[in-house]
This record gives sequence, C-alpha cells and structure tokens, in this order.
Amino acid sequence: MIAGKDTFLKRFQRFDQPVSCLKGIGPLRSGLLMKKGIRTVPDLLFFTPIRYEDRTRVTPIAEAVEGEYTMVSGRVISGGEQQFPRSRKRLFKILLEDEHESFIELIWFRYRKIHLSGFLASGCRLTAYGRVEGGRHRRQMIHPEIHQVTDKGKDSREGLGIYPVYSAINGMTPSAVRKAVALALQQFLPSMFDPVPEEIRRENELPHLGEAIRNVHSPCSSSSVDKLNAFDTPFHKRMVFDRFFLVMLLVAFLKKRRHKRTAPHWPISHSLQENFKRLLPFQLTGDQANALRDILNDFASGRPMNRLLLGDVGCGKTVVAALAAHLCVRNGCQAALMAPTQVLALQHLEYFRGLHPGFDFQPILITGRLKPAERSAACKEIAEGRHNLVIGTQALVQETLLFRKLGLVIIDEQQRFGVRVRAMLEQKEVRAHQLVMSATPIPRTLAIAAYGDMDLSVIREFPRDRAPVLTYILGKERKRSVFERLKKRLAEGEQAFVICPAIEGAEEEDLKDAVHMAESLKRLFSPAYEVGLIHGRLPDEEKLAVMEKFRRGVLHILVGTTILEVGVHVPKATVMIIEHPERFGLSQLHQLRGRVGRGSKRGLCLLMIPENLSEKALLRLQVLVNSLDGFEIAQKDMEQRGYGQFAGTMQAGMGELDLSEMLRESDLLFRAKSAAEKLIDGDPELSELDHRPLKTFVDGMLTTPVDL
Ligand code: ADP
Ligand code: MG
Repeated sequence: MIAGKDTFLKRFQRFDQPVSCLKGIGPLRSGLLMKKGIRTVPDLLFFTPIRYEDRTRVTPIAEAVEGEYTMVSGRVISGGEQQFPRSRKRLFKILLEDEHESFIELIWFRYRKIHLSGFLASGCRLTAYGRVEGGRHRRQMIHPEIHQVTDKGKDSREGLGIYPVYSAINGMTPSAVRKAVALALQQFLPSMFDPVPEEIRRENELPHLGEAIRNVHSPCSSSSVDKLNAFDTPFHKRMVFDRFFLVMLLVAFLKKRRHKRTAPHWPISHSLQENFKRLLPFQLTGDQANALRDILNDFASGRPMNRLLLGDVGCGKTVVAALAAHLCVRNGCQAALMAPTQVLALQHLEYFRGLHPGFDFQPILITGRLKPAERSAACKEIAEGRHNLVIGTQALVQETLLFRKLGLVIIDEQQRFGVRVRAMLEQKEVRAHQLVMSATPIPRTLAIAAYGDMDLSVIREFPRDRAPVLTYILGKERKRSVFERLKKRLAEGEQAFVICPAIEGAEEEDLKDAVHMAESLKRLFSPAYEVGLIHGRLPDEEKLAVMEKFRRGVLHILVGTTILEVGVHVPKATVMIIEHPERFGLSQLHQLRGRVGRGSKRGLCLLMIPENLSEKALLRLQVLVNSLDGFEIAQKDMEQRGYGQFAGTMQAGMGELDLSEMLRESDLLFRAKSAAEKLIDGDPELSELDHRPLKTFVDGMLTTPVDL
C-alpha cells in the first residue's frame, strides 16, 4: 500500500516554495528567473544543464590552442581599465603569467570594475576559463570566467572540475546562474524527500531524487564528460523519469476519473450502416470503417468517449468525424467541432454545409471574429438548440457558451492547440463524448503511452481513388521548365502553392523570401493569373481573406510560408513548389505536400534545391520521394537527424511532454506509465483526490504553465 491520502498530497505541496525563499536570491534575481519560467525551487532544481564543460585540467599557456575552450592558471602581472582612443568605450584587461613564463591577456568589454579590480592585488593567482584567441605571440581570452586561487599549494584543485552549462537566462551571467542553482542545492537537498515511492524506485533501478539532482548539477570530477553530455547517467535518467512519471500520473488519474462519469448512450442500430452508405459518395477505407466502429462502440457504452483518431494528412479523418456527428444529432444532441485556426473553422463549415442533406446538419460558426451583438445572438440560438452543429476556434471553449444538449466534442488538428484548451475542456467536465483528431507522426506505441488517457484509433490507409502525390527534387537550372509546367496546369484550371522558408528580407542572397517570390511570380504570370501572398505576420483578417480568395479560385497561385501546413483543403490545388526544402523538417515537408492532390487529379510536389546542397541533405530529401507514409518518414528523419529536430512538445493528459525526450527515452516513458498506473489504480483514495495539487506540481516541471 502506498502512502495514504494526506501524506501523498503533502509530498506534492511541500515542493511549492518560490525561488525568492532561497537565501541569497533577492527580488531582482528571482524576477529574472521567473522570466525564464523558473518560479519555484523545484523549477530551479529541475532546470538541468544543457551540456557540461570539462575543466578538470589546467593547460600550460604556451600549449593553449586558438579557438579551443581552455583552462589556464597563473599569477596576475598587471591589469586595469583602458580607454579606446577617440571613443568613450572602455575595456578591462588583466595580464596573466604562468609558471613557464608564458603570458595571456584576459579581456572584458562588459564588466563591473569593482569586481574585476578585486583580482589585481599583487601576487593574486587565478584560473581562467574561456576560448583562446590570437596566435602564439599574443594569446587572449575575451570574457573568461575567472576564479581566485586562495590555496597557495601547487596541487590546488580550486576552480577545477566539470562545469554544468545552463540555457542562458537574460540578465544573469553563467556563473550567477550556477550560483543560484548551487544555493538551491545547498538549502534544499539535505531535507529533500522523494515523491516517487521506494518500491517504484527499486523496481526501475532509479537513484534517490536528491542524489540525482546533486549529480546532474554538480557531477563528481571523475565522471565521464561524454556520458554526461549524452545525458546518459542514472541521475539524468532519474530526472527524465520524474518528468514522465508526473505527467503519466496525471494521465492515469484523469483516465480513472473519467471512467466514473456517464455520457449519453447511443445504441448501434442496424439500419445505420446502410444509412451511412447512402450519405457518402464513396466507400470508407478499411481503417476508416474500423475507426468508425470503435467510435460507435464508445457511443453505445454509456461512458464518455475519449478517443484519439490518429492519421496522416489526407487519410480522411473528417468524414469519420462527420459520421460521428451525424449519429449525435440523430440522437437529439448537439455536436461541437473545434479547429485551431479561423481558416480551418471556415473550411469545416463549408464542408459540413456541402454534405448530403441526409446528414441533417444545421451548422453555425463561432470565432473570435464575431461582433458582440452577433455573438450573443449566436449564443442564444445555440442555447435554444436551433443549431445541432457548432463549428469554431478556441472561442468555443473560451466563451460562456451554453448548449442545450451537448453530446459530442470534436477537436481537429489537436497538435496545434495549447495544453490550455484541453485543460479548459477538462475543467468544464463536459459530460459529452470527445473525439480528438491529430496528424502527429509518432509511432503507435508512443502515442498509446503519451495519450494514455485516450483510446486510440489509427488510420494508415489512404482512399483508393487517390493518386499519390508525385515528388521531384529539382535544381535551379530547371526553374524555367518548372514555370512552363506550372503554366500548363494553371491553364487547365488548377492551382498552385509556392512555399518559401522566410517571410521577407532573407539575408542569404539565394534564399528567396515569400514577399520577393510573390513579386517575381506576379511579373511572370500576370495578367493571366492572380498571385496571392500569405504569411504569419499578416493580420488574421487578411489571412482569412487571402485564403478565401484562393479557395474560391480567384487567386491561382498562393505564395506563403509554413502557415499553410495545417489542414487546408483546396481540391483544385495540385502543384506545390517548395523553395529551399533543406530548411524544413521531413515531416513538415510531408505535411505541406499533403495540401495538394486532394481532389481526383494527381498532385505534384517540386522540391527546388540550391546548387551547393550537401550529399547528406540530398539523401534526406530523397526519403520524401520514395515514401508517402508519414510515420515512416518521421522515423527516417529521426534516424538521420537525431531526435533533436522534434523540437516541440506533445500533450498528454493536461501535461506536456518534450517530444525529443520522449522519443529518445521511450523505454523510460513506458516504465513511468506503468508505474503511474499502478500507483493510481492501487490506491482507491488517490483516484478520489482533487487533482489540483498534483497539477501544480506537474506544472512546475513543465515549460508552459497551465491555467486552471
Ligand atoms: P485529413 O485526414 O487530412 O483531415 P480529410 O478528411 O480532409 O483528410 O480528407 C481528404 C480528402 O479525402 C477529402 O476530400 C475527402 O472527401 C476525401 N476522402 C475521405 N475518405 C475518402 C474515401 N474513403 N474515399 C475517397 N475519398 C475520401
Ligand atoms: Mg483534416
């Protein structure tokens, strides 16, 4: 039996002290830390180094190599402030001599005079660490880190060791950051308790949290720097485990709590399948049919559905959602559909309006664009039940929107929403079914672990009638023929996207930005064809207007940045030209090309590479030519570029997991998941708890705070 209700809660609450409670950290420092998201002592303790520096050896000055980070040691010969001739700029210089009579200049352009002057006393011995500049005759270090060696003994190890390097904090020097962490270690570690029960620790061979924290921040000087830099120590694993464990605890908790709720019960009727067939102009793929069956079973269970529909772009998730919504309205309830952008919300509205009348939808759109009067009118109609389908953006959860009888909430492109949205939904404790759709290309097993509070349906199969997008890699010399081809396609009534990596004023000469690209295409194609421009800096209104024009076919070519990536559906768009594809992640390119060939005509994706592209980069792009499977592409991208490129987070429960950490340490994730489930399932009291204290603690571990 794990600790009872009271002690368990206390374990979490005791973690809550703000950093300002540390002796030695005043309001200024705590303010700077706060800006970095470090609010509490555990935030600081879990602010783990991004790498480590080997400062265990002192190099004789004569052997210091230019360009290398080096530790030197010596006696102060002279020093002081100097002024640049004919300018008001100053610098501070200290000349250091080592025992082999070699010299090095230590130079600061930004400094506190009082602080540096303290090192000028005669006979003062220093260690200095920094990048060596200049040749053999005049060695220098700019802004080195210096330590006074007080112990006169020759074998002094003062200032030597393995140094942690932290992600930069504005307004604080690296050594000030290290000092802040050291204060937390000093004042908190001795009384540190471990929130992870001992059984779980033993089972997973994890060190005590206090021990892990100490060794991650201040590794002993005999540790392997390589291992430290690969985060490959039991202590690092323990910290990662904790981040996973806490999120998984929350996931398990939510899942258990949800299982106790009830939701509308919609039985499966026999005529249903027949009815569906009548409503659709095509046959569902096998995977779509399976996903639909999962959903129908959920509806019939009497428990609230909480299902994740995971599938590559273009695999046809929307129609599955439409059928689910149809069932909902046939049972006299309202359905809500939430999309991450206004463009997508509007697109969904049109999609649902265009469906077979047998679907019987009376949709309405709620976005942040509505004027107050329009909004209150819309709200009134929804409350009266005059609309059975409400489509919108985040405004859906933010509004004080009252439904007459909400039965189903559908969330599209979930990966685009912040955790806040899910937290708000959770907070509302909607007694409705939830269907969440996402195109996050992660392996299924990981998806199951991370989205542990949801059931999962995966669509891998594409509609049969869809001709796969053809992808070509082309050099600059082909540009002319590309434009010829484009002209032909436009003449046949088709449309094209052109994607650039930058919006405007790209510095590299060759890197065409969207603004310039749009201008030069206008020169080439007008007046016969219209060219539009869309990017993230445009106001929302304008984005929407441009997108609308393109969708209606008023614009023929749309030049843009990656904001086009999400779910845009324009069946007549068949050509996608991507400039500098080497600048994008493979998965991102795959999402982008998913925008074309969504009608019956074959899509064409042209990757325009620069002249000097490396062999390796070319090989990477080749993956896209050879594969149309988003999961496989993500996997290959990962193998070639490492996990680091998966910058970003993934939502789990109401928490957030670092995607690259999750992929790198998937084994730990699975362990953390089963440990968390055991803990929650094994303690009947625990699952009755209010989750807020736990939530506070999890927030402390996360980068994005969640408002509840
Ligand atoms: P996504 O999964 O990216 O949201 P959509 O739901 O927008 O994909 O579907 C893409 C296109 O495929 C739509 O035009 C849709 O009508 C079509 N589609 C979906 N399912 C099928 C199917 N079984 N057969 C033929 N076309 C389909
Ligand atoms: Mg979609």
